[in-house]
Order: sequence, then structure tokens, then C-alpha cells
Amino acid sequence: MSFIETEEQKALRTAVASLGERYNYVDYVLPRARKGEPLTALWNEAGKLGFLGVNLPEEYGGGGAGIYELALVQEEMAAQGAGLLLVVVSPAICGTIIGKYGTDAQKDKWMPGLADGSKIMAFGITEPDAGSNSHQITTTARRDGEDWLLRGNKIFISGVDQADAVLIVARTEDHRSGKLKPALFIVPTDSANFVKQRMEMDIVEADSQFTLFLDDVRLPADALVGSEDAALMQLFAGLNPERILGAAMAIGMGRYALNAAVKYANERTVWKTPIGAHQGIAHPLAQVKIELELAKVMMQKAATLYDSGDDFGAAEAANMAKYAAAEASIKALDQAIQTHGGGGLTKEYGLAAMLGAARIARVAPVSREMILNFVAQHSLGLPRSY
Ligand SMILES: Cc1cc2nc3c(=O)[nH]c(=O)nc-3n(C[C@H](O)[C@H](O)[C@H](O)COP(=O)(O)OP(=O)(O)OC[C@H]3O[C@@H](n4cnc5c(N)ncnc54)[C@H](O)[C@@H]3O)c2cc1C
Repeated sequence: MSFIETEEQKALRTAVASLGERYNYVDYVLPRARKGEPLTALWNEAGKLGFLGVNLPEEYGGGGAGIYELALVQEEMAAQGAGLLLVVVSPAICGTIIGKYGTDAQKDKWMPGLADGSKIMAFGITEPDAGSNSHQITTTARRDGEDWLLRGNKIFISGVDQADAVLIVARTEDHRSGKLKPALFIVPTDSANFVKQRMEMDIVEADSQFTLFLDDVRLPADALVGSEDAALMQLFAGLNPERILGAAMAIGMGRYALNAAVKYANERTVWKTPIGAHQGIAHPLAQVKIELELAKVMMQKAATLYDSGDDFGAAEAANMAKYAAAEASIKALDQAIQTHGGGGLTKEYGLAAMLGAARIARVAPVSREMILNFVAQHSLGLPRSY
């Protein structure tokens, strides 16, 4: 692993940051997020510039690079307050899984669109009665002649209104209960008996979450991704990119908050010197800087391991990176608000709104506690309590 980025990676950072600047938080993102309106113009332009599919194979119009580069894109966008939640889902999870395990026909149909952003695929695993315990999911696929009939509920599924399809994690009738033997299905959002209901969330976010009701949704045989027996591998292939991209978004948001705080601390003077001269303001910001940098190094380690093909090694690093990034970013937002005094709670800066959004990373895609469980069990060898 090199700590020095290539000229290409540095150029990508600069190009993405300049797009993010044009679609910045205060002028573009925040007004839309307050209305719960998707960032469609930004998504489309990022897609045309090749940023959204930078990790996907060149033969399907992607950039042929890795999760490292996609995380870099996400981090730089989020550092302008313009992170894209659906990047975590569409190119990172779904693009990776279909690229690695899809049939040729599935790749031909979906990959070019996922690569240039003209197609969006949401990802649905969470269920109301299963939550963090994916072994408990009950969405079931049963064969009906050549077709599949899919039945079940999903909750908190992001971006279904923008998506052409949802990659649904189900189980087949033969494995209706017990330890999860998943089967992954590409479910078009315009399928009959596919009902979505927008959730009433109390966060300021451009992308909405949905409850899904799948009431015997009929799917052709080729809706099943790859082979039924490889689905656990498929699911795992998507988890590391999901965590790395979640970390990237959190780190970017943390950088946004820190930059805003430093700018304000340098300008605002209520005694003789700018408030940034007081250690009570400067030290917490210095701590935030250190914690964001540490989280970023772990994220880059995870991405490098993942891109080198070491899924197992990447899992520990990706979990740790997502944990550290969420904590650092929430702290950054909180400290940025404190630095702004009363201004930190006004609509002008949108920092209080962003704190709510940063808080997502402590819960999703996997909660802080489940990461601590993972580390306790797998890294430390402690017994499992659940
Ligand atoms: C904004 C947002 C977007 C999301 N987008 C998607 C999406 O696109 N697709 C998707 O499938 N899901 C999505 N999710 C769902 C997300 O992945 C879940 O919310 C998350 O995995 C936690 O599940 P839960 O909400 O059911 O919490 P629960 O599993 O009910 O957990 C509740 C609390 O108990 C703790 N807990 C549970 N089990 C244990 C244990 N064994 N030990 C210690 N503590 C434990 C948890 O850490 C948590 O603090 C999204 C969620 C949010 C908030």
C-alpha cells in the first residue's frame, strides 16, 4: 500500500472537488434537501463526467479503477457538502455485485447505465422485523413455472423513487428460515404488486427512504443475480464497498464541517483576537482534524485491501473505517456548530441540518454497536452475546 496518491488520483480529486464546488452545500444541496428533492442535476453531471462509474469495468463504460477511486469521488463531493447517498448503493453495492456475479445478459442490461449514472439501482436488505439481524429476513422467493414470485416487506430503502430497480435480498422457499442463505433479485420499480411508501424521516436529506411491500411480485427467471448458490458470496462482495463508501461520505462531511469551522474561527472576533486563537476553540478542531485523518487512513487501507482482492482483510478495516469515520464526522459537525456559536444553529449555515445527516452514518449501513460486536468477536476473539 502506498500512502502517496498517483497523479491520476490527485487529478481526479481536483476534478471532483470542482464539480462539488459548483453544486455546493449552501447554494445547491441544502435548499433541495430541505424539500426532500433529489440532487438529479448533480447526479447526471457526475455520471457524464465518469465519476459515478469510476470503479466499474471499462468494457461497460466504467473507469476501470477501484473502490479506492470511488471512495475518493464520494469523499471529495461530500467535502463540498454534496455527497451522494446513492453512490453507496448503485455503483458501489449493486455495480460491484452485478459486475462480479451477474450473468452476461444482466451485465449488458445494467452495467453501462450504472456506470454513467443513467440507471440507478437501490439496495434492499433491511426488514422491519429483522433489522440488524439479517438472518431473520423473511422476504421469500417461490418458483412459479419459469418465474419467481417475491413476497415480503423492506424498510428504510433509500432512493427507490429515483431507482429503475432495487436489488432485493431474499431467501428462496427451500431456505425459508434459519441461517440466511440469500438469493438476490433485480426487481424493476415499475413491477406489478411492487408498492413503495415514502417514510417520514426527521433528517434533512435529499434522498428519501421507503417501505416496500412486495405482494407476489412476478419476476422472470433471469431476475435472479448469478446463481442461487453463490448469493452469500454476492452479498459479502457488496458489504465492504458499502462500508468504505459510507466512511468516505462521513469523512467528506467531517471535512466540510471542519473547513467551515476553521474559516469562521479565523474571521470571528469578539475580544481582541479571532476566536480561533482561544485554545477552547482551536484544540477541539485540531482533535477533529486528527480523528478525520486517522479514519481516512483506515478507509484507504480498507479500499486498498479490497481492490487487491483481500475481502477478508478488507472486512476488518472497512468496519473500523466506517466506525471511526462516523464518530469523527459527528464530532466535527458538533464542534463546527459550537464554533459558530448561535450562528451554528441558524438556517444560514445548515450545520445543524448536516449534523442530522451525519448521524445516519452511526446507524447505517451497519450500526456502531454491530461494528463493535464484529471487532470484539473477530479481531479480539471474545465470545458472542447474541
Ligand atoms: C437514512 C437511512 C438510510 C438507509 N438506507 C438503507 C438502504 O438503502 N437499504 C437497506 O437495506 N437499509 C437501509 N437502511 C437501514 C439500516 O441499514 C438499518 O437502519 C441499520 O442496519 C440498523 O437496523 P435497525 O434500524 O433495524 O436497528 P435495530 O437492528 O433494531 O437496532 C436498534 C439498536 O440496537 C442495537 N443492536 C441491535 N442488535 C445488537 C446487538 N446484537 N448488540 C448490540 N447492539 C445491538 C443497534 O446497534 C441499534 O443501536 C437505512 C437506514 C437509514 C437510517
